Amino acid sequence: MQNRPFPAYLAFTALLSFALILPGCGGGGDESSFSGQPALTPAQALNAPVTQRGDGVQIGDDVRSSLSDLSPAGQHGGVAISTGRVRDGESSERVKDFLTRQATGSSSWDPGTPYISTFEQKPTIQIRETTSDRYVDDVIRVVQLINAALPYDKRISVSPERAVHPSGNEEDYQSHYIPAGHIYVGLGSQNTWPPEERPPVTVAGVEYSIGGPSGGPASYIWINTNIVRRGNQARAVLAHEIFHALGFYAHIQGYRTVMNTGNYVGFPITYLPQIDTDALYALYTRFTHEYGFRPFDANDLGPWTDTSFHLRGDIEDVSFGASSRNGLIQPWAHGPNPSTGLSGSGNASWSGRLLGFTFESESLAGTADLTVDLATLTGQLDFSGLEYWGVNTAPGPIGSGTMWNDGDLGYSVVVRGDTFTQTGGDAGEVTGVFFGTQHEGMGGVVERSDMSAGFGGTRFH
Ligand SMILES: [Zn+2]
Repeated sequence: MQNRPFPAYLAFTALLSFALILPGCGGGGDESSFSGQPALTPAQALNAPVTQRGDGVQIGDDVRSSLSDLSPAGQHGGVAISTGRVRDGESSERVKDFLTRQATGSSSWDPGTPYISTFEQKPTIQIRETTSDRYVDDVIRVVQLINAALPYDKRISVSPERAVHPSGNEEDYQSHYIPAGHIYVGLGSQNTWPPEERPPVTVAGVEYSIGGPSGGPASYIWINTNIVRRGNQARAVLAHEIFHALGFYAHIQGYRTVMNTGNYVGFPITYLPQIDTDALYALYTRFTHEYGFRPFDANDLGPWTDTSFHLRGDIEDVSFGASSRNGLIQPWAHGPNPSTGLSGSGNASWSGRLLGFTFESESLAGTADLTVDLATLTGQLDFSGLEYWGVNTAPGPIGSGTMWNDGDLGYSVVVRGDTFTQTGGDAGEVTGVFFGTQHEGMGGVVERSDMSAGFGGTRFH
């Protein structure tokens, strides 16, 4: 671990813990998981969330725009394009208020000035070796929801390696055994937590330290499974504690937020609440600092809008697209519920389109073609003819834009249940689902540092 020069006045350690009031009902049970699918694995932390809803399956965040809010904008092949502006984000005033309430840090060097902090390294979560496998799916699910609100280069990954449980020797703690940039997450009954890591209350706790011997931020989170149940309740508490680790130190009333200890376990964490999405994105794009800790000035938020520009494509009953607001690009796809599992012999193929944005919020479109070997459940997903138009503007007809990079992207994919994810090819993450009882549709999202888009298509073979 490389030691970094660190100004002494920034040395800062906070032990945050809270007494959780658990309502009689923990909310929506397991309704947010995609039923009948394999449990999520650590490698999928960077993939998009997949959610079963009353009207079908949604990939990506809860940003699917209604056709009634959009205007027709032509055809791309068999796909009807719609675009429009929708006021679906949080206002500058509310984001500033929320972050002002989070600026609870202070420095002995600079008393009286509120400070705000961020986890300045790209965070890596490691699940404790003592945590039961059955909680892994909940951890990955929550990380996917949080990642949908973070800029691409700040997204949290989850290590496939489990985190050590310290021996109890003082040396472990004196050497600050958690590496910089890591958040160790443990779920277990409190009597199994390391004694040094038991907060004074018994539900959950997080410690965040910055500028310690390892030269960067590190955190651990413990959740008491004697009190917190699997499913929605565990995900709500995890989201709350990870938000603490990311720099949200204050409990906040008066907002529907995972930081509202009065009610946050009472609503299902199917998606991150809107204020959490916008405040997290604002914190990690407008308030970051080299050392992760700086005096807070709400005006550093800069230009901010509550109105998104939406791109949407529709082909039969598959829809897909992306939302763009303040530089946050959120791709999505939606279609009817699948039957269970793709099977058969030979190849199956789907074709359709892609719609999204470049990292500079320029509208982006192209073709999407998927072929799967039904025996091996592996396949190839190709995007080609990729072209872009202006910032937050409707795309023109096919061929009227400017070629994006070399015009195509390709991924090898593997099928798990009714979902597919990338295994190789170009950089980025692909999260897809087969739609309909005969898997007659497919759709998903592709996310990279330089673009994010939804895609969808129909089966022709
Ligand atoms: Zn808390």
